[in-house]
This record gives sequence, C-alpha cells and structure tokens, in this order.
Amino acid sequence: MKIVISEFMDENAVQTLRARFGRESVVYDAGLVDKPDELAAAVADCDVLIVRNRTQVRGVLLTACAKTRVIGRLGVGLDNIDVAACEARGMKVIPATGANALAVAEYVIGTAMMLRRASYLSTDAVVAGKWPRAALSNGRETAGATLGLVGFGSIGQLTAQLARAVGMSVIAYDPIIKDSDHAWMDTGAIRVELDELIAQADVVSLHVPLVESTKNLFNAERISAMKKGAILINTARGGIVDDAAVASALKSGHLGGAAIDVFEKEPLPASETFAGCPNLVLTPHIAGVSAEANVRVSSMIAEKVIEALS
Ligand code: NAD
Repeated sequence: MKIVISEFMDENAVQTLRARFGRESVVYDAGLVDKPDELAAAVADCDVLIVRNRTQVRGVLLTACAKTRVIGRLGVGLDNIDVAACEARGMKVIPATGANALAVAEYVIGTAMMLRRASYLSTDAVVAGKWPRAALSNGRETAGATLGLVGFGSIGQLTAQLARAVGMSVIAYDPIIKDSDHAWMDTGAIRVELDELIAQADVVSLHVPLVESTKNLFNAERISAMKKGAILINTARGGIVDDAAVASALKSGHLGGAAIDVFEKEPLPASETFAGCPNLVLTPHIAGVSAEANVRVSSMIAEKVIEALS
C-alpha cells in the first residue's frame, strides 16, 4: 500500500493513515505540489493520492498515476481534478463534503458585516492621528439587510442559517435544489430566480462550483444590475466573477464593497486590477481553511480513504 499526500494535511490524520497502513506506506510532503517531477515519480506506484486544490489531477499527472485507485480531496470543489477521466480509469474521487462549510459561512457573514459597516479599515488613519470618525459614521447594520445566495448547497445553506441568526432576510438561487427540498423550510431562505436575486440583494454571495454554466456568471452586466451600494462576496472559484468589472464597480461607487477569496490564477500575481479600490477585502483562498476545518477535512478524508480501501 502506498499513499501520497501532496499538500498540507492535519498531522493527526496523517498519523491515522500511518497507524492503519504502516509508517513507510504514507509519503507526506506538503510541498510536493510544487515539485512536479518528484510528484510524478511518487505517484507512479501509489494506490491513493490525497490533494487539496492546487494539485492538478489531470493530463501528465493522471497518466503517471498508473495504479492509483483513490483520489482524496481535502476540500470540496473538484475543478482541479479531471473527475470524468479518473472515473474512466476506475478511480474513486472522494471530496470532504461539508467539512469546511462552517469556515466559509463564517467568512461570508464576517466580511458582509465588516464591509457593510465600512469602518474597520481605519487603523492606518487612527494610528496616524487622523481620527476619521465623521467619514466613517454612515456604516450600515446587517440586521434587516437581504442576503442573496447563488448556489444553495452545503455552504449556501449553512450561510443562510448564520445570516438568519444575525437578522438578515435570505433569498437564494439554485436551479437544482427542488422546491420541495427541506432546506428551504429549515433555513427560512426564499427561492428566487437569478435576476430577482441580483435586483433585491444587499449582499450577494456565491456558492456554486466552477462549471461551464457558472463561468463568468457575474460579468459586468450582472454586476451593474446589482443594487447600488450592494456587497459582492466570492468564495466559490475564480472565473465565476469578472474581477476587472468588480474593481471598476467599486471605483465608480456602484458596488459598496467586495470580498474576493478565489482567483482565476492562484497565487494571484501582482496586478493593477484591484489597486485603489475602496472597501475591498482580498484573501488568499482561505475562506474554507481554519484550524478546525483543517482537522475536520483531514480526518474525514483519512476515514473515507480507509473505508474505500477496506
Ligand atoms: P455543494 O455541491 O454542496 O453546492 C453547490 C450548489 O451549487 C449545489 O446545490 C448546486 O445545485 C448549485 N449549482 C450548480 N450549478 C449552479 C448554477 N449554475 N447556478 C446556481 N446554482 C448552481 O458545494 P458547496 O460545498 O456548497 O461548495 C460550493 C463551492 O464553494 C465549491 O464548489 C467550491 O468551489 C467552493 N469552495 C470554496 C472554498 C474556499 O476556501 N474558498 C471552500 C469550500 C468550497
């Protein structure tokens, strides 16, 4: 048995795999993703490959996985894995469904509150003795505002619950979740069409996978149809939102704020696109990565891998 782990995994979960399959069976190197030749050599005789979102399980790497039976994904979003090609080779692809949903949901509510209030980015001015109290005194509360969720799966539903707890109304667009699904009743979210959501929401948050139908979903036209002063939060995937259109809507004042955690190219290279944008939070694909989520995601994948092999 050989298990290769090419990105960071909680140490206890790595130990669980070592205890079950033997110490020498588990090759764990969180930096392997950045050493393509070493990675290709390591996977050549592996039964299991465990990745996060950076290892591209397709093309050359997939061909190198000559006897791999299981791909474990430390997260959700399978856009870095050619799932169809894996399945055609008889490989089982296992995501950590739901295990990092709370981290993302908290990120969304936290940034929504911060951006609506627009008062937390004053540290430099306060340190410099400028005391910008008058300029920051028009921040908006979150209770009573409408949150629009695009995608109402595990993360969308959990975000809806947290949003309701802080007094928001929640509307959601998801063409696949049926009217009869208990999630609508459980969360109190109201089902709407995408155009209605865009027209009504004070905060729009995206929770869809990156697939053909979601590419560039929030293009310049849809962003300009959002309410003036609305907040846009993208923790889903880069490529779903037109980042240049977000930047120009922030600069023109049409958008009241934005938080972007995911980018078409990661790491995001230094770029002028976002320079000078007001009320903008950029984070390095971290919404779903908290200490607790890392433990949950890693232990779920260790358990599921053990189950798949037994
Ligand atoms: P999920 O599969 O539980 O839910 C996705 C929902 O999107 C489903 O209900 C599906 O019906 C819906 N959907 C699909 N196509 C749609 C479309 N065109 N329009 C509207 N809805 C559509 O997934 P999840 O666990 O909620 O995660 C959602 C996405 O969040 C993942 O695919 C991943 O890309 C991203 N994610 C990011 C992070 C992060 O750290 N930033 C962490 C976890 C997940």
